[in-house]
Amino acid sequence: MSSIFRILAELAILATIISFIVYIPEIFPRCNLCKKIKFRWQFSLHTDISLSLSRKGNQSVCKKCCLRENINNFSDLHTKKEIKNRVEYKTKSIL
Ligand SMILES: [Zn+2]
Repeated sequence: MSSIFRILAELAILATIISFIVYIPEIFPRCNLCKKIKFRWQFSLHTDISLSLSRKGNQSVCKKCCLRENINNFSDLHTKKEIKNRVEYKTKSIL
């Protein structure tokens, strides 16, 4: 009888590990601007975006980047990213 309980305990541990792996991006999101992985509470902006059917991504900006880049909402982030991309394209075309 004890072997059944052992299997159940092992399954419970496995389920915990799987759910932990699945929720890692929710607990430790990556900042879109500084590309650093931080704790959830260090972010002032965080949202889920579905990239495709199976893959899930998120858009997050940490408090530090929000203060530095003066970002208050996601449209600010979008504009900042667009400007950044344009600057990168320009510097690449010069070189
Ligand atoms: Zn950041």
